[in-house]
Amino acid sequence: MSKVVVVGSYVVDLMSRTPHLPKPGETVLGGPFQMGPGGKGGNQATAAARSGSEVTFVTKLGDDVFGREALKHFTKEDVNIEYIKVDPDQSTGAALIEVDEEGENSIVVALGACGTISEAEVVEAEEKIKEADIVLLQLETSIEAVVTTVKLARIHGVPVILNPAPYQEFPKEILKNVAYITPNETEAFELTGIEVTDEGTALTAAQMIHDLGVDSVIITLGGKGAFLYTGGDKGELIPSFTVEAVDTTGAGDAFNGGFAHAISNGYSLKDAMKFANAVAALSVTKIGTAPAMPYKNEVEALLA
Ligand code: ADP
Repeated sequence: MSKVVVVGSYVVDLMSRTPHLPKPGETVLGGPFQMGPGGKGGNQATAAARSGSEVTFVTKLGDDVFGREALKHFTKEDVNIEYIKVDPDQSTGAALIEVDEEGENSIVVALGACGTISEAEVVEAEEKIKEADIVLLQLETSIEAVVTTVKLARIHGVPVILNPAPYQEFPKEILKNVAYITPNETEAFELTGIEVTDEGTALTAAQMIHDLGVDSVIITLGGKGAFLYTGGDKGELIPSFTVEAVDTTGAGDAFNGGFAHAISNGYSLKDAMKFANAVAALSVTKIGTAPAMPYKNEVEALLA
C-alpha cells in the first residue's frame, strides 16, 4: 500500500438547496439542508484513502462540534489523524454552500483553523513526509504551510502534487520542486492568463506552466477529462467516463485523491490519469464532496 501525505484544509460543508441563489439582501426559503465533511484537503485525503492508499492528513481544526465530527470521519476512513491539530482558540472551517435547481452553486469558504497551519506545525509531520511515496497539496490553506511542505518533500526526495486550488498567489519558485500540477480551467487561467477552452488553448497554458518548472502539467477539463503535458509540442487529452452527473462539487478533489493513489502505486502517468478520471466520474454521480468519493472496488469495476 502506498503512503500518501495530504497537507491542507478541512471544512464542514453546510449545504442547502435553494429555488434560486439569493440576491444581496434577500432571504430565500430553501432546503433540504445537508451537512458533511469537506474542504479540499479533507476531500482529497478521503478519495485517496478510499482508493486504497495509506493516508496521513495534516490539518488544523477548532475545538468544537464540527472538529469532533471531522476526527470521527477521518477515523472511520482509516486516515491517520496523528497530525491533525486542534486549536482551542479557533473555529473549524466551514463552507456555506447554496445549490439552486439548475445545480448552479454559490459558496463562501471560511477557512478558520485550517487557514493558519504554520511552518512549525508542518515540520511536526516531517517523519511522515519523509516516509511518504507522494505528498498532495492544495492552496486552500496558508501559503506558509504549502511552501514548508514543498521544502520538506524536496529535502527527502518525495514527489509533490500541487492542486493550485482555489487559486491564490504563491511564490512560483516552489514549482521547480513540484512534480505534478493539476489546475482546472480557471486555475490554469490564473496561472497563465490563457483562457482554456479546448485542447489547443490547454496546450498553450500547459506549456507556460511547464516553463515555470513543473515536470507534468495536468489541466482538468470537467466532463471532457484531463489534458496531460510533459514537454515538447504536443499534449494528450485523457477522456473522462460518461456518467450521469448529479453534483460536480468536489470532482477536482476526487481526481487529485485518485491520481495521488495511482501515481504513488507505480501506475504510468496516463493510467494514473485514467484512474483519477474514474474516481472523479463516480464522485459526480453522488451528492456531497467527501461522502461522494468512491471506493476502490467501484473504481476497479468502472475501469474493467
Ligand atoms: P474542478 O472540480 O476542480 O472544477 P473539473 O471540473 O475540471 O475540476 O473536474 C475534475 C475532473 O472530474 C475532470 O477531469 C473529470 O475527470 C471529472 N469530471 C468532472 N465533471 C465530470 C462529468 N460531468 N462527467 C464525468 N467526469 C467528470
